[in-house]
Amino acid sequence: MTTTSAASSVVERLSAPPVNGPVHFSVEFFPPRDAEAEARLWRAVRVFERLDPAFVSLTYGAGGSTRDRTVRIAGEMATETTLVTVAHLTAVDHSIAELRSLVGAYADKGITNLLALRGDPPGDPLGEWVAHPQGVRYAQELVELIDGLGDFHVGVASFPEGHHRARDLDEDTAVLVNKLRAGAEYSVTQMFFDVEDYLRLRDRVVAADPEQGAKPIIPGIMPITSLASVRRMAELSGSVIPPAVEARFAAAAGNGPEEDRAAVRATGIDFATETAERLISEGVPCLHFCSLNFTKATCEVLGRVGVDVRAAMVAPAVG
Ligand SMILES: Cc1cc2nc3c(=O)[nH]c(=O)nc-3n(C[C@H](O)[C@H](O)[C@H](O)COP(=O)(O)OP(=O)(O)OC[C@H]3O[C@@H](n4cnc5c(N)ncnc54)[C@H](O)[C@@H]3O)c2cc1C
Repeated sequence: MTTTSAASSVVERLSAPPVNGPVHFSVEFFPPRDAEAEARLWRAVRVFERLDPAFVSLTYGAGGSTRDRTVRIAGEMATETTLVTVAHLTAVDHSIAELRSLVGAYADKGITNLLALRGDPPGDPLGEWVAHPQGVRYAQELVELIDGLGDFHVGVASFPEGHHRARDLDEDTAVLVNKLRAGAEYSVTQMFFDVEDYLRLRDRVVAADPEQGAKPIIPGIMPITSLASVRRMAELSGSVIPPAVEARFAAAAGNGPEEDRAAVRATGIDFATETAERLISEGVPCLHFCSLNFTKATCEVLGRVGVDVRAAMVAPAVG
């Protein structure tokens, strides 16, 4: 069955009350590398579709064939499911002409919701950023470019701890406010470990520009199921795991030659649930789950914060 959601943009979806529980939620997927991973992705998409997320998003990586596959899959998510689909788009290795044609390719597939990102240097995310000679330098320029190409709904990234390349939090806030002023309708945050960092970001944006501060800042949540991989992820994004959080997960991981995956997973679900509960009590517009193309951990957290996940139970869980 091919249907499309009645609301066409992320902000429209968020402006209606959530129907399944105390808060809206959304789910991030990443492009699969091969046919087997793609089959798993689709199983996960179909499980989440039953729970009526506010939107789903598909990340955008480096590399030609993956990029083509990403555009195709995002298009299929938008046209063959009921989901409002957000396609991520980065400026890495693209000229402005290529970016224009990529935006056009998404539009041809019915995608009008885009997350405009600069992206990180391929290979070494912490390495020197080198813009394409005919490309753009910052995400703000990408927002402006997309805005000039038609009727798109654009979101951007935000960073509760500050982006690791920003001089300080003031500069980081100014960058976000400028992306919103340029036309972005909302932001989605990088995963964070301390809710206070999210709340302070929200306060900073409101203080800097109340009009832009009224736009949704959607917190990114990733239920941690492996300490080694979350340490690596934090390192690659220049993020810091607070000592108390590190100690909690290290205690769960134990001292054996391999981490106790079951105990780390249980701690990760508890931690994500506590984070989500606090965010809901602080009135966030939506919880954005980095699913890693799995369903179980996200559904567990959703169920524990009061989202009705029974519809997902009739489909086989993924991961
Ligand atoms: C929700 C989310 C989704 C993501 N999805 C993807 C994805 O799909 N694919 C992917 O490759 N990466 C993705 N990323 C990672 C992202 O691309 C990186 O974090 C990247 O380093 C920053 O991107 P940005 O869009 O925030 O860049 P920008 O907003 O351009 O900022 C980049 C740096 O430049 C500085 N800056 C910006 N504008 C100016 C200016 N005018 N003058 C001086 N300095 C400036 C900023 O302070 C910052 O340090 C995602 C990140 C998040 C939070």
